Amino acid sequence: MEEKIPFCSFCGKTASQVRKLIAASKEDTFICDECVEWCADLLEEERANEIDNDKAATANDIQAILDKIDVLKPAIIKSYLDQYIIGQDDAKKSLAVAVYNHYKRIKNKEHDVDIQKSNLLFIGPTGSGKTYMAETLARFLGVPFAIADATTLTEAGYVGEDVENVVLKLLSAADGDIARTEIGIIYIDEIDKITKKGENVSITRDVSGEGVQQALLKIIEGTEANVPPSGGRKHPQQEYIQVNTKNILFICGGAFDGLENIIESRINTSTVGFNTKLVDKKDIKYDEYIKKCETKDLIKYGLIPELVGRLPVVATLESLDENALIRILTEPKNALIKQYQKLLKYDDVDLVFTDDALKLIAKKAIDRNLGARGLRGIIEEIMRDVMYEVPDDQNVKEVIVTEKCVTEGAKPEYVYDGARGKGDNKKVVKKSA
Ligand code: ADP
Repeated sequence: MEEKIPFCSFCGKTASQVRKLIAASKEDTFICDECVEWCADLLEEERANEIDNDKAATANDIQAILDKIDVLKPAIIKSYLDQYIIGQDDAKKSLAVAVYNHYKRIKNKEHDVDIQKSNLLFIGPTGSGKTYMAETLARFLGVPFAIADATTLTEAGYVGEDVENVVLKLLSAADGDIARTEIGIIYIDEIDKITKKGENVSITRDVSGEGVQQALLKIIEGTEANVPPSGGRKHPQQEYIQVNTKNILFICGGAFDGLENIIESRINTSTVGFNTKLVDKKDIKYDEYIKKCETKDLIKYGLIPELVGRLPVVATLESLDENALIRILTEPKNALIKQYQKLLKYDDVDLVFTDDALKLIAKKAIDRNLGARGLRGIIEEIMRDVMYEVPDDQNVKEVIVTEKCVTEGAKPEYVYDGARGKGDNKKVVKKSA
């Protein structure tokens, strides 16, 4: 039998015509060294094209965002926020204007007047919507968004996270796209927890608090941040990703407990008896005074003047009262109750909360002192068994959450519809076992 001469399955050259012929696991299939090199070049070229396309996509993305800003006047931004955020009108307006100006500033680079970056400081109690507002805005604009907790940060050289990790979070949110990262939004929570302890008290001063503020100052005002790709602490041998932070919008937020007393003592030095009846109602007093916050109050509280200077827009958020919490439960596009109603609707079951139940849920959240943040936990407690049982019970037509579900932990009432599965149209209200 005639012996077959091996040849490259791609170019047809035989072993004598090339340097190397590599055999595949399949019999009679070979590839020569020249074809391997040609394939490698082809792949390399394709990869390079992909990167170019990615860059083009990024530039287009950014242009699209900046173009959108021309159309998205402050009133439009606010009306979007209105769909999700209840109350907090002043803060919404301040945010809408700051954001509009911020992206205008980025877009019009050749300004003869140097426009200052409109970073914001949100002051408001826990659970009043500070983080949520920043997050909702970023979603609307289509820019990457990251949340960082100031209390986890340390100044360089101390144990904890370096401030550059804040930028790393944004880079991850932008899927590693540096250009998009550079126009993103970062929310830094609990900024009030890294204050110096006591004004002018250098001996007892909280050094790390002030050091973190100094470190944050740099990235907030705009710098080439060296971001460690893997997070954690910086390492001398590590390679860094450079991210310029000059166009990143920073929003810092905090409750600033006790700031109201500083403002009160500034305002009320002579007017004895001013608002004395408010003093015993902590929330009312807080809301009343916080609106009158000035730069010097923040410095007295323990923020360093340079940082206050880099947060030129101060917006205050009010404590949410019972009425606001009920609205939060029911009105926004993605209100908690609407979400549960939708989930049960998939099982063809209606979900109803009585007015009294809603009021009591709001009251309970106020007692927990967590603002709207407390609502989810309360509703989850009430709904846990319902969400477990209903998918298995074909006959439940409606679930009613009453006052007792909140006060006594009673199970919601199940309304059975005889028509479903039993051929009886009469509705029977039955307490579940
Ligand atoms: P914080 O002011 O402490 O940053 P968050 O923004 O984290 O509070 O609020 C916690 C949750 O409560 C949000 O995710 C949102 O669901 C809800 N929430 C808070 N405030 C409002 C508000 N004004 N309108 C609608 N929902 C709100």
